[in-house]
Amino acid sequence: MSEKTIQTDVLIIGASASGLMCAIEAGKRGRKVIVLDHANKAGKKILMSGGGRCNFTNMDVSAENYLSHNPHFCKSALSRYTQWDFIALINAYQIAYHERDHGQLFCDDSAKDVLNMLLAECEKVKVKIRLKCEINAVEKKEDGHYVTETSLGKFSSASLVIASGGLSIPKMCASPLGYKIAEQFGHHIWPTQAGLVPFTLQPHDKEMLTELSGVSVDSIVSNDRIQFRENILFTHRGLSGPAILQISSYWKAGEAISINLLPDTDVAALLKTRQTRQPNIKLKTVLNEVLPKRLIPALLGEHTIDTPLQEFSQIRLKEIAAHLQQWQIKPNGTEGYRTAEVTLGGVDCDELSSKTMESKKSAGLYFIGEVVDITGWLGGYNFQWAWSSGWCAGQVA
Ligand SMILES: Cc1cc2nc3c(=O)[nH]c(=O)nc-3n(C[C@H](O)[C@H](O)[C@H](O)COP(=O)(O)OP(=O)(O)OC[C@H]3O[C@@H](n4cnc5c(N)ncnc54)[C@H](O)[C@@H]3O)c2cc1C
Repeated sequence: MSEKTIQTDVLIIGASASGLMCAIEAGKRGRKVIVLDHANKAGKKILMSGGGRCNFTNMDVSAENYLSHNPHFCKSALSRYTQWDFIALINAYQIAYHERDHGQLFCDDSAKDVLNMLLAECEKVKVKIRLKCEINAVEKKEDGHYVTETSLGKFSSASLVIASGGLSIPKMCASPLGYKIAEQFGHHIWPTQAGLVPFTLQPHDKEMLTELSGVSVDSIVSNDRIQFRENILFTHRGLSGPAILQISSYWKAGEAISINLLPDTDVAALLKTRQTRQPNIKLKTVLNEVLPKRLIPALLGEHTIDTPLQEFSQIRLKEIAAHLQQWQIKPNGTEGYRTAEVTLGGVDCDELSSKTMESKKSAGLYFIGEVVDITGWLGGYNFQWAWSSGWCAGQVA
């Protein structure tokens, strides 16, 4: 080994949510910890998360809020380091936060509070963070140590923790490094796909809906496997908003999704009643009472909505109701990793210990956070997975 090799107990690649949590915990055990990252700043995704306010966890976390080829894998880590443990840390730092819909917890002020808290915890236990560091190669020596060659020199460590995240937002320094290292050590990688991502539209839908940019509607969005009730948002590029982001993680190319734009209304019954009571009233006058005005002509056409209710047959009224409550739309695709909040797929859980996140293929090697085939719903679940998996690895690495 050359003189220049830097010795450490634990080397962590990735100085963001999962990597910093792991570093803190390993540091608390007296381990010498170095964290490497090619970014110029630690925790860039934490800073940009939750619109700058970091939705750092959720009041109600369970395995059902996660997608994985192994749906049971996340249970152990999530129960060993829970949302309450992270909330206790947030409280210890007196970070002000609030609860939004669906139990989502956000900082009152800024995501910086969460990052600064993690960095302060790292400092307490003397974790060293080295930024702007390119990772060139990783090798396992016969003595079981890992040697990592980087632009800042060689590092030798008993434990190597991969916390380099997924492929989402390359501009924020995302890279496939974690998958490559996993493959190098014989791990199977489930194919990756952008998740929590807006849909793009087929040309004819885009043309029809483009003028709706900015319109938001409380809806139920579903496919044959799952449904979400939250807002959808029409944008100049396609469809977004929380309900769309949620279903995007369950979407397969070529599939249609169904949107109920009026989840609390029996539209067929409404139209029938109004037809009896006010036969001369135009369809648009009734729909304007329950839907955003701009939406109605785009979905049904000017001619239809200008027609008095008495001119519609019962069958036609039912068709109109179905169009609004089971609107089938086939996305053209997604906006991809450029805007996706997460990456689906990744390192196969079956080849990791669910208790420690250690590789079953190579002792001393750990995978934590988003690089693993565990993807949370929108709502703070992805950070909770990063904290929980990072904590677990930090107990043993
Ligand atoms: C816009 C946006 C908003 C989000 N908001 C939320 C939210 O509010 N709540 C929530 O729960 N989740 C949110 N997420 C998801 C969440 O940010 C991630 O799931 C989480 O950050 C994953 O943590 P991680 O430590 O596994 O990976 P990351 O946070 O992605 O960190 C990986 C680190 O590894 C480094 N790295 C990558 N490749 C290399 C390389 N080749 N060499 C060296 N270093 C490398 C990166 O620079 C980075 O610092 C959001 C994501 C995005 C993109």
